[in-house]
Amino acid sequence: MNDNQPKDFIRQIIAEDIASGKHGGAVVTRFPPEPNGFLHVGHAKSICLNFGVAAENKGRTFLRFDDTNPGKESEEYVRAIKDDVRWLGFDWNDRLSHASDYFDQLYEAAESLIRKGVAYVDSLTAEQIREFRGTLTQAGKNSPHRDRSVDENIDLFRRMRAGEFADGEHVLRAKIDMSSPNINLRDPTLYRIRHVSHQHTGDKWCIYPMYDFAHGLSDAFEGITHSLCTLEFEDHRPLYDWFLDQLEPPHRPRQIEFSRLNLAFALTSKRKLNQLVSEGVVNGWDDPRLATLAGMRRRGYPAAAIRDFCQRIGVTKKENMIEMALLENCIRENLDLGAKRRMAVMQPLKITLTNYEQGKTEMLTAQNHPSRPELGSREVPFGREIFIERDDFMEDAPKKYFRLKPGGEVRLRFAYIIRCDEVVKDGEGNVTELLCSLDHETKSGSASSERKVKGTIHWVSAQHAVSAEVRLYDRLFTVADPGSVDDVMSVLNPTSLEVVDAKLEPALRESAAGIAVQFERLGYFTPDILDHSANKVVFNRIVTLRDGWAKIEKQALQQQS
Ligand code: ATP
Ligand code: MG
Repeated sequence: MNDNQPKDFIRQIIAEDIASGKHGGAVVTRFPPEPNGFLHVGHAKSICLNFGVAAENKGRTFLRFDDTNPGKESEEYVRAIKDDVRWLGFDWNDRLSHASDYFDQLYEAAESLIRKGVAYVDSLTAEQIREFRGTLTQAGKNSPHRDRSVDENIDLFRRMRAGEFADGEHVLRAKIDMSSPNINLRDPTLYRIRHVSHQHTGDKWCIYPMYDFAHGLSDAFEGITHSLCTLEFEDHRPLYDWFLDQLEPPHRPRQIEFSRLNLAFALTSKRKLNQLVSEGVVNGWDDPRLATLAGMRRRGYPAAAIRDFCQRIGVTKKENMIEMALLENCIRENLDLGAKRRMAVMQPLKITLTNYEQGKTEMLTAQNHPSRPELGSREVPFGREIFIERDDFMEDAPKKYFRLKPGGEVRLRFAYIIRCDEVVKDGEGNVTELLCSLDHETKSGSASSERKVKGTIHWVSAQHAVSAEVRLYDRLFTVADPGSVDDVMSVLNPTSLEVVDAKLEPALRESAAGIAVQFERLGYFTPDILDHSANKVVFNRIVTLRDGWAKIEKQALQQQS
């Protein structure tokens, strides 16, 4: 966090609490994912906030698995979440916890609520409980079991724990107020019976606490000072506080809500992500088209760029939708500085340079970065046959088209100026090859290369090119807010993945997974973490360049003037 930046409202509250000596100046936060899916970009916002504010104030952060829902949760998700938090750049050290670590304490807390007369065992069916709860406009009704004696409640609750009852036979409820305008306070359920094994506690329990009860008390047990969560929990805060009022734990956390991150063209609902994964619409939770952390990592988004993005979007209470362009700009900015430039052709069109010696290979020097000479240069082989991008040639080109056209000239990046003399076509009239002549006096960097032309295009030597599978990703959805559509399947972009047989300059064969490069004029790319090897070269497109043409053409014009 930049000190010059105005503090968001949460950081202001924390600064005030530190100044007033609340919690002895301590700042303890937690990130509490439920292990029922992979983390997504929305979670990144919460992770950056929770770990960020603690780090800025010499505080601590727990990674706490909210595992109160056995059956939907799994160890696979636990592992993935840990990997993702670490990858994003945060460390919980020894502060790894689970709501299930506190099942004994939570059980004790429940019994003490019963003894205080503010919790009771109810034996209505789930459906009756729903009916009795009332509606937003109508008060609820008391359950006929609401006035059971403390002894009877303790006895029933212990027998619930002992496994004497079937799922749904009884629940433990808080006794608050069935006519409260806040439905969360209408005797919320604290415990329900579920005869299922838990991934962490095995078969020790057959009653499981509800989220609201477990969450606030886990916060208290861990000494959390500021419990930061998204706005949908605002109406739960009175309940959060009610538990603390009743049980008076030594540490009293405070819940503060902020608006969730909604990212345009991205899904941030685990349930819907799960649907895409299980129905095979995408290739797993780490599909590079998903805004999951695992997907973004595989796509090649640097963790630092995601952290930068989270800082730029800030923290408020206002619901809003962030444009994908903002995230992509953070990615570009991050990659621009470090990514070495390389040449690669996605849609190869062959050129034969008719006046270039057959069989000759020339090594040309190419800068690795236009503005960072310290990144050095490399040698790129050049020969009689090369590939250029199919759309860098146009047969019936307008006057302002400065790339290759019949009779026109263009500069090959780091090489020579060539002229298109002849267009070769197949029987159906498709262009299959260009015959061009090269001006030997125009080698880039040589003393005699003063002659300028307006267009510069990239190329690779046909003889030396590495064939590669390149995966060009586009938005997965056709609408900006796929989360609001009932049937996400109906808004899938059919061209979200285009796989091309590309030709790369030979230096790219040695690329290491996790390292991004810029393919000149095309975008940033990285070898696929899983599928790339020296024998089968596979690259992912991380992000396009905003304006590949303008930049290089501007440079060319500057050189000219
Ligand atoms: P579910 O739909 O399963 O409830 P969830 O997205 O709420 O999923 P959790 O695992 O409960 O996922 O979330 C962990 C934490 O991340 C919570 O504190 C939650 O508030 C926060 N979080 C979840 N989604 C977002 C989001 N889009 N923006 C900011 N924070 C989020
Ligand atoms: Mg949740």
